Amino acid sequence: MAGHRIEIRGTVQGVGFRPWVCRLARRVGVVGRVRNDSRGVTIEAFASNDALGRFVEELRKDTLPAAEIAELRETAIPDEHVDAFVIVSSDADGQKALSIPPDLATCEDCIEELFDRHDRRFEYAFTNCTACGPRFTIATGIPYDRAATTMSGFVMCEACKAEYEDVEDRRFHAQPNACPACGPALRLDRLDGGATTQIDVLADATELLSRGGVLAVKGLGGFHLACDATDGAAVRRLRERKHRDEKPFAVMVESLAAARALAEISSEEEMLLTAAERPVVLLRRRQDAGLAVEVSPDTSLIGLFLPYTPLHQLLVAAVQRPVVMTSANVSDEPICSDNDEARRRLEGIADAIVLHDREVAMRCDDSVSQVIAGVPTIMRRSRGFVPRPFYLSRPVARPVLACGAHLKNTFCIAMGDTAYFGPHIGDLETVATLDFFEEAIERMQTILSVRPEIVAHDLHPGYWSTRYASSRKEVTLVGVQHHHAHVVSLMAEHGMTGPVLGVAYDGTGFGEDGTSWGGEFLLCSAERYERLATFRPIRLAGGDLAMREVWRIGYALLHDAYDGAPPSDSIALLGDVPSSSLQLVKQMIERELNSPQARGVGRYFDGFGALALGRARSTYEGQVAIALDQVANESVADAYPYDIDRTRTPWELDLRPAVRAAVDELGAAAPAGDVSARFHNALVAATAELLEALWADRGNLPVALTGGVFQNAWLAAGIESVIGNKNKVLRHSAVPPGDGGIALGQALIADAILGDNG
Ligand code: ZN
Ligand code: ZN
Ligand code: FE
Repeated sequence: MAGHRIEIRGTVQGVGFRPWVCRLARRVGVVGRVRNDSRGVTIEAFASNDALGRFVEELRKDTLPAAEIAELRETAIPDEHVDAFVIVSSDADGQKALSIPPDLATCEDCIEELFDRHDRRFEYAFTNCTACGPRFTIATGIPYDRAATTMSGFVMCEACKAEYEDVEDRRFHAQPNACPACGPALRLDRLDGGATTQIDVLADATELLSRGGVLAVKGLGGFHLACDATDGAAVRRLRERKHRDEKPFAVMVESLAAARALAEISSEEEMLLTAAERPVVLLRRRQDAGLAVEVSPDTSLIGLFLPYTPLHQLLVAAVQRPVVMTSANVSDEPICSDNDEARRRLEGIADAIVLHDREVAMRCDDSVSQVIAGVPTIMRRSRGFVPRPFYLSRPVARPVLACGAHLKNTFCIAMGDTAYFGPHIGDLETVATLDFFEEAIERMQTILSVRPEIVAHDLHPGYWSTRYASSRKEVTLVGVQHHHAHVVSLMAEHGMTGPVLGVAYDGTGFGEDGTSWGGEFLLCSAERYERLATFRPIRLAGGDLAMREVWRIGYALLHDAYDGAPPSDSIALLGDVPSSSLQLVKQMIERELNSPQARGVGRYFDGFGALALGRARSTYEGQVAIALDQVANESVADAYPYDIDRTRTPWELDLRPAVRAAVDELGAAAPAGDVSARFHNALVAATAELLEALWADRGNLPVALTGGVFQNAWLAAGIESVIGNKNKVLRHSAVPPGDGGIALGQALIADAILGDNG
């Protein structure tokens, strides 16, 4: 006989891991115990060396669907004489850590029961087991057990209780365990004056969707608005009522096969679609998809996802066609989660609401993923991922709260050697979003039992997140530069402490020279950065207005490239802009009136997009950039010219030659796709040339490609293929490249700057 202590880290709590270990141990003839501890699960196992070997081998195979073993460590311990293998209660004296797992999509076993007429949970919308079901979104406190969830008011019936207490049962300690006899129930409320119904809810909901109605559905982290994705009139109606002009809607489909009928799906994309987190996956729409064009006007990308709750399973199975499923909110407000609030806010938007009496404790939007130039990348990390820990290669000295960015906000709390991202909050621009931000921070602090003494925030003094940080009592504040944070987030994802050459391309971020940054080459470690190169600034006449009226940026490019006197026929490229408006913008630029300078690569995309596509306006951030990306002609290999001004510190990339070349080509009626390709190629070539020059100056450092612009596969793949054979190129995968990912970097920078590590 021998003894082994096996310590396992990863997603191993609240997913049925201990019972699984217990069953496995009994099967291979191992005795001992398993318990949750602060970092995961610890097993003490006693058996012959042979049996122990088999046991560990099986553990390593990690066949439990919802679990993910990040690390498995074995140490020998003295043999003990015990009779059986048991689950012991959690280690109480260890460092407190989060025991709440993320929400998990309905597992195969539960789906099978859901559609089995003879099962007691046939068509029961709240079935779950230890391998699946709600977790984070129903948790009201710690430790994670039924009393601290929104299931606490439901008393388990005898049958459910028996399952809950049987270690051999799939529902052993499944905290939200329920059945039609004892659990939550569905209801359909009409918002158009009709009567509430509690019978045939699914049939009524299906009927309403088939007639082109708009249905609100209570999901895991809040309400969705749903309509038939093949019915153009229905989708238009939803857009009008939701005040969402052109931003694409996500579409839920019944199965992988149904997804394949709508989009091209690679094996990596299939893995994302079917993962237990069930993110929305951005895919290339098929020509023959049969979806209403209104679902994603002017982009060939379509966001698809598979059902992740029993209710969704039942609904899409009944409707038998793809269903738009978009967060139920009006424009930029946070997702609705409370029944009364939903009824109030969705009046006039939805015709009816499918709701139930299990409350959402924590709002959590759907996550979004995309395979970008071969790399599966999380774009929005929320439902299904939160609050899964993120392991740090170097622990932080004291707990840090990082407030995140202004747009696409997500905050982060780092403590010890782990960091926890909060849910996706959104743009911190409305009172409702700010309330959600504060409430979510409070909730995460509660479930982590931590009160951070260090608060990291963006350098922008006017941002609401900065003001929130300043309002926290008894904390040390650390301001962090936006692009530095982007780079350090990516370093952390790869377990690197630097130095690296960060290439941070995005829309905007507060710079330290009075301009807005976003085309930055930064030599980074966690504690500091040196800005080595950037883009020549563009004047944004009207400030933020220019991001919607992108013709203003197009004009600014022309004005700069032709020293204030662009040829009059190039003005025609700006679409339907009245000459009086052009005159006004010209004056604003020349007099530097309300025309802040911006270096964001995203703004260059806006400006080139306005010129090449003749588009004057953008209804959401990135719209013109995506359109420009999508028209790019892949057979065009040459690039527009550019200059690099090395007399300045930092160096400045000057794209005026590219603007002039594009204007010449467009004047000669060149297709927008060729112009787009040469613009993309110029960015690739310029980035590579700058990196080569910086390597020569600073040594051969790894390169970190970060910022929202790197959602653009042409750039990411292009730069990687030019420089990747010479040096290591880091790209995002588990942390979003956009602003939803920067809080992690903020936290680590704050910790490093305070310097009391170790
Ligand atoms: Zn299940
Ligand atoms: Zn029951
Ligand atoms: Fe950014």
